[in-house]
Amino acid sequence: MKKQTIAINTPFPHNDAYGSLSMPVYNTCAYEFATAADMTAAFTGKVLEPDYSRTMNPTVTHFEDRVKALTGAANVFAFNSGMAAIHNILITLTATGKNIITSRHLFGNTYSLISKTLKRFGVEGRFIDLTNLVEVEAAIDDNTSCIFLEIITNPQMEVADLNALSEIAHKHGLPLVADTTMIPFIVFNSYELGVDVEVVSSTKYLSGGATSLGGLVIDYGTFPVVNERIRFEFLFNLGAYMTPHAAYMQTLGIETLNSRYQLQSDNALQLSRRLYEKLGKSGWTKLTSINYIGLESHPSHDLAQRQFGPTGGAMITIDLVDESACYDFINNLKLIHRATNLFDNRSLAIHPYSTIFGNFSQEEKSMMDVLPTTIRLSIGLEDVDDLFGDIQQALLNS
Ligand code: PLP
Repeated sequence: MKKQTIAINTPFPHNDAYGSLSMPVYNTCAYEFATAADMTAAFTGKVLEPDYSRTMNPTVTHFEDRVKALTGAANVFAFNSGMAAIHNILITLTATGKNIITSRHLFGNTYSLISKTLKRFGVEGRFIDLTNLVEVEAAIDDNTSCIFLEIITNPQMEVADLNALSEIAHKHGLPLVADTTMIPFIVFNSYELGVDVEVVSSTKYLSGGATSLGGLVIDYGTFPVVNERIRFEFLFNLGAYMTPHAAYMQTLGIETLNSRYQLQSDNALQLSRRLYEKLGKSGWTKLTSINYIGLESHPSHDLAQRQFGPTGGAMITIDLVDESACYDFINNLKLIHRATNLFDNRSLAIHPYSTIFGNFSQEEKSMMDVLPTTIRLSIGLEDVDDLFGDIQQALLNS
């Protein structure tokens, strides 16, 4: 079956008592067993049946099963946010005295998790240029625990070569972990590109229009420690498992994921092409650049197409002449919403420098190439003429 069919028709592990077509929301904490022996089997992990909803819940399992069917992964774990998923996978793989090789270009909280939180537990983050393979080789030592990256960095839009990085990682016996939030797994296959574990903020494309927070660890089974630690240790001890209601909404989100994603990507491509044509034109002098992976002019365009296929996702960044022009632009928007988040059904605009990275030092922002002149746009499902019109009026009046 093709992915769109699987997305709608993944079977339930047990027949529903009433023949419900959608997986019911099992808002329950605990489950009753027929016998003491059945209880023992579930509690000791001999059978994978729910005993307590901190570690397993039928609605969440069904959501995980759909992701498993769509990705071909060995194990999928759903968490209550993308950050919870990232935290769980990193502490699965690393430990005191170990280091994580990663990029200077990371989502702000992921950078903070590694550089502050994990640092307090004796883990070192090595923030390097992952597009420079010589630098990657040089950064690895006997204490390296994994290579972690985002497939398209946010907001810098850098793309690293996954095949090349996985070759280096595997030569040293290390897992390659990729945050694939920017391009959904229905349009490309990370495992074929050498990724061992994917993490996704399912808050974004999957949730079906910003309905709920969620995160996924998608484990391709190449490093058995991932399943052992998460399933039998962290779900129990950390309590970051997804809630059944979020899983229900995100299961519905998966059903429409492909349609929404294709339209949002197409809108982003059309909009960025139209804005690109306006660069340097009279009335448009405040606009200094358009950064979109789907534009042929983007330095990572070819690599992105080779890895992720023809679509470029729904995130665009634009640069304006200075920070005050960015504030004016955001204040003038009438349709595009002044809000964080990515891949809602509605379009969103944010100035990352003063918000997501607002409490970072100037030194950190410079190191991460987060510029005061950049605006990040997440393109939604609106008509592209209306989006272009809003950007045009906001720029011309600023
Ligand atoms: N990874 C990326 C690339 C993100 O953009 C985000 C959030 O914006 C996250 C992870 C964190 O996800 P969540 O907000 O679901 O915790």
